[in-house]
Amino acid sequence: MATITALPTAVQLSKDEILRYSRHLIMPEVGMEGQLKLKQAKVLCIGAGGLGAPLILYLAAAGVGKLGIVDFDAVDFTNLQRQVIHGTSDVGRPKIDSARDTIHDINPNVEVVAHETRLTSDNALDIFRDYDIVADGTDNFPTRYLVNDACVLLGKPNVYGSIFRFEGQASVFYAKEGPCYRCLYPEPPPPGLVPSCAEGGVLGVLPGIVGSIQALETIKLILGKGEPLIGRLLLFDALAMKFRELKLRKNPDCPVCGANPTVTQLIDYEQFCGIRGEEYVEPARVPEITPIELKKMMEQRKPFVLIDVREPHEYDICRIPGSHLIPLGEVPRRMHELNSADEIVVHCRSGARSAKAVEFLMKSGFRKIRNLKGGILAWSDQVDPSVPKY
Ligand SMILES: [Zn+2]
Repeated sequence: MATITALPTAVQLSKDEILRYSRHLIMPEVGMEGQLKLKQAKVLCIGAGGLGAPLILYLAAAGVGKLGIVDFDAVDFTNLQRQVIHGTSDVGRPKIDSARDTIHDINPNVEVVAHETRLTSDNALDIFRDYDIVADGTDNFPTRYLVNDACVLLGKPNVYGSIFRFEGQASVFYAKEGPCYRCLYPEPPPPGLVPSCAEGGVLGVLPGIVGSIQALETIKLILGKGEPLIGRLLLFDALAMKFRELKLRKNPDCPVCGANPTVTQLIDYEQFCGIRGEEYVEPARVPEITPIELKKMMEQRKPFVLIDVREPHEYDICRIPGSHLIPLGEVPRRMHELNSADEIVVHCRSGARSAKAVEFLMKSGFRKIRNLKGGILAWSDQVDPSVPKY
């Protein structure tokens, strides 16, 4: 394939850089020419989270000259299990500041461009335009489609990775030479069907592997060496420790990279993915009770049954005293354990799963049933801060 970056001209390596990159320079596949390509390369990383952490660290260490980072989040304690670019002392700081400090410690030669903003249809093209390659480390579908479409419209390669629990995927979507993300997934999944890592969990090492693959693919594109993951979807199963590969074909009818595209400018991706607002919020379609009201019920010793529909391993982390565990998946067959004459309160972690349980039980004839608004997280915030949040 053609090289993505311009051939170096007047740029040279300093004596310090020659020493720093010596393990690259002695390989003919990289050499001085490749290292100068890296130095001139401009890579944009979307997100400084799980995938972004190894991606950014390795690109910086390898000597990519200009690294743009798009992120608007702050570091929190739940990030540290996998987002190795941030440390404990960074909790509360903007991720972009923390990432920049780490990069400069690893390689002060890297120019870091901070885009501390939410990526939107209004700003994506302007932000992307200045970069050679975009590496997507996002964890949500609207941004993933947005990144894809912006890359297709601008003719830039999109180094893709995604992770969930023990499984990862990686590919390079480069519409000039192969399929794009929409060729693979023309339609987003129904909202709420695919759980996020915050809901379903992710093994800490997994983003390290997938993000490193993204870094490697990015470097290969810059060098113009090897076989890029264009037209191939790499699937990684960490539990089985197996890699599989799917051949991807360009869809001639692809709405964005096909012969007659219907998407010729960026659209409203939240609407496209059926999501409105900042986060997926379960509509209050079932009766609710607030943590404060529940506390009052307990203090007044009103008779009621408290059902926890989380999983046993979550119950081991924390619980509300007196709760009875029936994981959501077991509710239908264990419904007989409940009496529809009782006052029932159902809770989970954040209130979404328990809303599903309440909805199901109401359809089954339960009337005196309510959902704990905000789940055990809100209980911890509003009633009992000794309950750990996760
Ligand atoms: Zn396409």
